[in-house]
Amino acid sequence: MSIPFLSLQEQHIPLRTEILEAISNVYDRNNFILGESVKLFEKQFGEFCETTYCLGVANGLDAIYLSLKALGVKEGDEVIVPSNTYIATWLAVTMTGATIVPVEPSLTTYNIQASHISQAITKRTKVIIPVHLYGQPCSMGEIVSLAEKHSIYILEDNAQAHGATYKGAKTGSFGEINATSFYPGKNLGALGDGGAITTNNKDLYEKVSSLRNYGSQIKYYNSVLGVNSRLDEIQAVVLSIKLKHLMNWTEDRRRIANSYIQLLNDVKEIILPTTAENCTHAYHLFVIRTDQREALKTFLGERDIGTMIHYPIPPHLQVAYRDLNFKKGDFPIAEEIAQTCLSLPLWPGLAGVNIERICSSIRKFYGR
Ligand SMILES: *Cc1c(COP(=O)(O)O)cnc(C)c1O
Repeated sequence: MSIPFLSLQEQHIPLRTEILEAISNVYDRNNFILGESVKLFEKQFGEFCETTYCLGVANGLDAIYLSLKALGVKEGDEVIVPSNTYIATWLAVTMTGATIVPVEPSLTTYNIQASHISQAITKRTKVIIPVHLYGQPCSMGEIVSLAEKHSIYILEDNAQAHGATYKGAKTGSFGEINATSFYPGKNLGALGDGGAITTNNKDLYEKVSSLRNYGSQIKYYNSVLGVNSRLDEIQAVVLSIKLKHLMNWTEDRRRIANSYIQLLNDVKEIILPTTAENCTHAYHLFVIRTDQREALKTFLGERDIGTMIHYPIPPHLQVAYRDLNFKKGDFPIAEEIAQTCLSLPLWPGLAGVNIERICSSIRKFYGR
């Protein structure tokens, strides 16, 4: 039996009737854009993240971009981003015309930390974008202090860490404004594209509320140059239903991660993920590292076990960014992670027997 890298079946089959009924209600209401369902989901997701305000937008990239716009980021400003992240974090900065300042992550948490961020701060630094990569929260206490000291904004990229906590508080609640994605494969995923911003700042909330809707608060009166980036009613009803299960699913992700760790702990050739101090991990991905990544990936593939690489090429080496003139060796930690990381199957409902088969195959590869 093949084990795919990701399956949504276990989440979607039990919710089929409820979700299809909610979608059919939207169909009958005939009000598809910025209606009551989007409002309701925004209220629920804001409560979930423990922030006063939440706004649905079209996707995670737009959520980051619109947050940067609301913060007034423009050409000439510098924005600090991790050197190892999904390219969307970088692209949102590029879309504002601001300068990308990459910072190397820790090789144990895979996240950027205050001690390295502080070295990259200049007079032009306007925003730091911590990414809670793979579902592991950044050490937000130190990053918040650093940002306060330098009067810099924090914008969390919370696309991978729905439900994770730092010192008991949810990710997506630390920044001046925060962005997330509901791409189907995320911990809370829509049946298509979706995203959101969360904030306690009423002014930023009002700015994004206008920016996402053509720069208009009153129909046909446009006060700023906005875009069209709205969550739609169908995705909102789906997300409201799935949100009720998110913490159970997160618990299941942790169960699976703990099984992997138990079953692979003595295989010294691989580096297992750890949970950082003061954090709960949301395990969006279970990423191991090994010098024999390609061979292990092939070995598992031959046994019908799906794996993925997050991510094979760091943003600074992407062809799309060749104009920034970065070269190989500029960000050695990001490059090291790109060359050695391998994501194992992990989704709510992944059966214990499958975890055992994956681990025994990995053990076999290393001659155990
Ligand atoms: C998925 C993701 C995004 C982008 O989200 P989309 O909804 O696909 O635009 C941004 N940042 C990170 C870290 C992501 O994982």
